[in-house]
Amino acid sequence: QQLMTADQISNLLAKDRQYVWHPFTQMKDYEQRDHVLIQRAEGIFLYDAWGRKYYDTVSSWWCNVHGHGHPRIKEAIHKQLHAFDHIMFSGLTHAPGITLAERLVQLAPEGLHKVFYSDNGSTAVEVALKMSFQYWQQVGNTTKTKFIYLEGSYHGDTLGAVSVGGVEQYHALFKPLLFHGYKMPAPDLRAAGGHTLADEAIVAEQALAPVRELLQLEAEQIAGIIVEPMLMGAGGMIMTPAHYLTELRKLCSAHQIHLIADEVATGFGRTGTMFACEHAGISPDILCLSKGLTAGVMPLAATLCSDTIYAAFYDDYMTQKTFFHGHSFTGNPVACAVALASLEVFEEEAVLERIQLTIRALETALHGSGLAALPYVANIRQLGLVAAFDLYEDAQRKMPFPPEKRIGAAIYEAGFEEGLILRPLGDTIYYWLPHCATPEDVSDIVSRTLRVLNKVL
Ligand code: PLP
Repeated sequence: QQLMTADQISNLLAKDRQYVWHPFTQMKDYEQRDHVLIQRAEGIFLYDAWGRKYYDTVSSWWCNVHGHGHPRIKEAIHKQLHAFDHIMFSGLTHAPGITLAERLVQLAPEGLHKVFYSDNGSTAVEVALKMSFQYWQQVGNTTKTKFIYLEGSYHGDTLGAVSVGGVEQYHALFKPLLFHGYKMPAPDLRAAGGHTLADEAIVAEQALAPVRELLQLEAEQIAGIIVEPMLMGAGGMIMTPAHYLTELRKLCSAHQIHLIADEVATGFGRTGTMFACEHAGISPDILCLSKGLTAGVMPLAATLCSDTIYAAFYDDYMTQKTFFHGHSFTGNPVACAVALASLEVFEEEAVLERIQLTIRALETALHGSGLAALPYVANIRQLGLVAAFDLYEDAQRKMPFPPEKRIGAAIYEAGFEEGLILRPLGDTIYYWLPHCATPEDVSDIVSRTLRVLNKVL
């Protein structure tokens, strides 16, 4: 591909400043730096308009799975566009949407038999919340109207999703617009010290105690609890014990509460298993999927639910039990075709087996590279293809850097010079690797990160 001229690049970047408002971005900062204008993407690499290449260590906001530009995905898009493009999914149906629903039901934890499509992670969550709420209204438990969520949880940016969001920095401002719920502590494994199963169980039980108490008193008010199983991403790459989930499953069943698993980020192999719920061997009542569903290539989401939930909506039209929810792009056929192709790649390339090598290489690189010995690094942690560590002014005493130092932002900038797209969450540095990453990529990424840290700190 021909590179752009310097004039073309500066022209585009000037228009970027003039017209575009980027997500999760302080535009005053953004306007004061040189921008990375991406021109090409292949495998784990992004290439900018100057021809420089960068490791996409965060899988393009945790979406990309098989690497950029996978031929099977491109072929699926062409084939579907040749047949038909977008059509509405209300009153009409199509093979990619039907076949994908069947495949998702086969792959998902057992008991999830119906698939409701939408188009991004936040809408998958909105669907889950509304579905749960309406279910209880329709089965006569009309006081069950509230949701439990965890401190540090992130479920998206639409108002329902923000209502069950626990990251103060993103969510606090909007409180007057939100519905009220119960925020419970997260079972953060960083508190588990030695990380034996017994330590993990202690952390889990500490976080479960207030949930048990609340359910004893107020289960009649509560529709569901929403969690990011095993790994709470945007809240700071908080890894949580399987024990928490198994106990939560029991509590939800005992108290008639929906367990809603938000696997928008963790689904499709990212944690080493197809779905993170598998680490705990549990099935939720409702499962939210997006991001990796289409290998991170097209916007699509799916909310899966049990037959019991579905049955409460199934009646004569005049009973007013219809689920009145839908989006213009619900069940987009091109996105569904891409998702099917991605699942085929999972099988053809034995992706879940192959990534185990990468996962082990990541573990070796994290613990054998000298990272752990750095005086400002603490809490190195990993689940599957995701790894994180926290930066402190004094790691031993867990003394944080003053916020005005904006260490994360400096690391982000320096990452580009070392060919890395890093997107620290505050002072937490993390990798969210695509499944196409090789063991060699992993060790190169960690070495480059060490150089970035040495430069900034
Ligand atoms: N749920 C989780 C766990 C997420 O990590 C995200 C996004 O990062 C969302 C929901 C929202 O997804 P989207 O950004 O596609 O709306």
